[in-house]
Amino acid sequence: IFVKPWVFIRGVPNMSVLPPEGPPEIAFAGRSNVGKSSLINALLRQKGLARTSNTPGRTQELNYFVPGGYSGALDDLPPLAIVDMPGYGYAEAPKEKVDAWTRLVFDYLRGRSTLKRVFVLIDARHGIKTNDADVLGLLDKAAVSYQIVLTKLDKIKPTAVPKLLEATAEAIRKRPAAYPQILATSSEKGAGLDELREAILTISQQ
Ligand code: GDP
Repeated sequence: IFVKPWVFIRGVPNMSVLPPEGPPEIAFAGRSNVGKSSLINALLRQKGLARTSNTPGRTQELNYFVPGGYSGALDDLPPLAIVDMPGYGYAEAPKEKVDAWTRLVFDYLRGRSTLKRVFVLIDARHGIKTNDADVLGLLDKAAVSYQIVLTKLDKIKPTAVPKLLEATAEAIRKRPAAYPQILATSSEKGAGLDELREAILTISQQ
């Protein structure tokens, strides 16, 4: 499925326009600027598919992507959908925006039985910050399986990677819904992308 051209099918600003539950879903979450759109585009080998969280209008929606060529009929559903969740953690976000984000995301997380895993992206240079920990708390509360993906690995020294992986694994060790394996990626250099594709395939077939 990662050789097919993927297509954007829907932006979901609230639960009333959520597509009916069908294929397994895998979602990507992360602070704005963490490199989420770059990672999705690199993963699906399509520049410009996922747009940066700075794109007006795309900021507060769940964006659905599926491999192209499926009609969507019940006997012709795509094998997998990828959901790009709105970025969080804008420094100057007003409280109403943060509340709207939390409501949209929590409603989705709580009610989506086809959601198999959320990949939570963490900038390798910064590690897990307070607002990331808040989101992990939300995922634990909703009991949705999630996995940490470090981004921009090319921006740190290779010798610093083992310690970073250890510290990140320790930070999530007691979190009930966290998947223990940490993935480390660079969209720029392509590091870790095959491992991420492999993880997604395995999850989608479970
Ligand atoms: P988003 O807001 O999370 O969707 O982040 P973007 O994908 O738009 O990336 C934010 C910034 O980080 C952009 O300037 C990207 O070029 C840069 N970036 C993203 N991924 C990488 C990476 O793997 N390595 C490096 N060095 N820069 C990256």
